[in-house]
Amino acid sequence: MKQIDLRSDTVTRPTQQMLEAMITAQVGDDVYGEDPTVNRLEQTMAAVTGMADGLFCASGTQTNLVALLSHCQRGEEYIVGQTAHTYKYEAGGGAVLGSIQPQPLDFETDGTLDLAKVERFIKPDDFHFARTRLFCLENTQAGKVLPMDYLKDARKLADRHGLGFHLDGARVFNAAVKLGVNVTAITTLFDSVSCCLSKGLGTPVGSVLCGSREFIARARRWRKMVGGGMRQAGILAAAGLYALSHNIDRLTDDHANAARLAAGLSGIKAIHIDMDAVQTNMVHARIDADMTALVQHLAGQGIRISPGNPVRLVTHLNIDAADIDRVVAGFRSFF
Ligand SMILES: *Cc1c(COP(=O)(O)O)cnc(C)c1O
Repeated sequence: MKQIDLRSDTVTRPTQQMLEAMITAQVGDDVYGEDPTVNRLEQTMAAVTGMADGLFCASGTQTNLVALLSHCQRGEEYIVGQTAHTYKYEAGGGAVLGSIQPQPLDFETDGTLDLAKVERFIKPDDFHFARTRLFCLENTQAGKVLPMDYLKDARKLADRHGLGFHLDGARVFNAAVKLGVNVTAITTLFDSVSCCLSKGLGTPVGSVLCGSREFIARARRWRKMVGGGMRQAGILAAAGLYALSHNIDRLTDDHANAARLAAGLSGIKAIHIDMDAVQTNMVHARIDADMTALVQHLAGQGIRISPGNPVRLVTHLNIDAADIDRVVAGFRSFF
């Protein structure tokens, strides 16, 4: 029986073609700048995002960390969402390693940070306060796509206050595909962008940080310091290059499958889904049930979900429409 894992889009396994690209990759020592495949991935991602330069890192946590460290000095501050990955799910790296203070604010229901509120929280230039230095957004945020007009206004706010502007774009390609825009329409509004290869794009490892040449040069030093200087990393970068040419347009399938899942599950009385929030590859469902029993029931049918409630269900390239129908039937059989 095929296992269907809805816990995250990080659970994908590389396809045979992706493995082939990895096995045949030309490699060198990337710490010497001599891995041609890493160099090509960095330049390709920079071109794809419309930025000057790129830096291949081990994870999205690492790209976000070196971005924070490159934007902010000790005692400076970044404004960030209360449930943003960059604040909540990265073990406090900015504070621990950079003495950078977060200023978390609640996300609005559409995944934005209210700009009037952001403006109120920018600290005046006064020695009592940390110096507000950076403004961070996430797109997609919990599967939601930030509106383009909002992003443009956010850019203007950053400019008005001389703030750096960083995007945690772990799933920025999902956002671009959903909006039907070139990803550069989103990414070039920012000073730096972190893009994950190991989420919807389906590689085993890696994220790329993009920004100006000077910014990436700073980030490269920080990456070395946090132990992210890898050697024949072209084996991993080759998967990224493969993903950039094969796995972006197909994200529409993941979005269609999430919509199919949401529609199927919303027909079950005990399951409550905010359909407006089903925009890309995630479905958040509140379920009137004993989750432990539900998780176990589904596991018996080869379906894995997280035990949380509300639960996040994520589609990805190892899940097709027939799998979604099996999942909906699995939930139905429980209720
Ligand atoms: C997954 C994710 C990251 C990076 O996580 P890693 O597991 O370290 O690659 C960053 N931001 C968001 C929003 C994510 O979902």
